[in-house]
Amino acid sequence: MRLLVLVYAAIVGAAVGSFLNVCITRWPEKLSVVRPRSRCPRCEKGIAWYDNIPVVSWLVLRGRCRGCGLPISPLYPTVELATALIWFASAYWFGATFLALRLAIFATILLGVAVTDLRTYTIPDGFTVTGFVFLIAASLVGLFLDAQYPFVGPLSAILGACTGAGAIAIVGWLGEAALKKEAMGFGDVTLMAFIGAAIGPELSLLTVFVGATLGALAFLGLVFPVAKLRGRELPQVPFGVFLAPAALVTLLYGRRIIDLYLAYLAGA
Ligand SMILES: [Zn+2]
Repeated sequence: MRLLVLVYAAIVGAAVGSFLNVCITRWPEKLSVVRPRSRCPRCEKGIAWYDNIPVVSWLVLRGRCRGCGLPISPLYPTVELATALIWFASAYWFGATFLALRLAIFATILLGVAVTDLRTYTIPDGFTVTGFVFLIAASLVGLFLDAQYPFVGPLSAILGACTGAGAIAIVGWLGEAALKKEAMGFGDVTLMAFIGAAIGPELSLLTVFVGATLGALAFLGLVFPVAKLRGRELPQVPFGVFLAPAALVTLLYGRRIIDLYLAYLAGA
């Protein structure tokens, strides 16, 4: 029975991942994710249902369009596989519960944000606004089901959204003053509002701290020096790429991290 739930979760996850691919590729171009149906960009042949089965079709077609042989990016099966894993893991931890669904949707949106920010330096409202509304609604439903942890209730969700958005705006403001260049987009602010609505005010501060530190290390330590070495202009920093995993780790382990830190302070 339990195995059946896990298999089912993985299959639903793969299908959700297939839709996530549509969001990742179309939202930055301001295109509808509903119409038109997916088609090959070169031969414009519509993709048949049997060529649109998550992961499997890409493998069967060996990553090429059936009509014209145009290579299909391995990003598609990778996102589908990752989303299937997210839904599998959520069901593994929380069983067939509302909490599992909440975690699966939260992590799926974070994956979409990270991939989109990495590819296009944008965080579409489609992810963050939809996600924010979903999280607030879920926190209300959670009241009735008595199932919130590791997510927070409605009041903490609102406070978390404000704290997260405010904290990242301050980091961006100071970063811009220090680097004398545009350091952060408004997309990061909306992303932190979404994340804060999941984890509340304290943990959203931890997420900003962890995410901004990871981003700064990666870019000041690696990406910027390499760009300078090659005489290129310094690239923008896609902070969403770092904030998204930081949010997930913080949601699942944040309390423990803070407890360990406080115990360490008490001991030192
Ligand atoms: Zn084609």
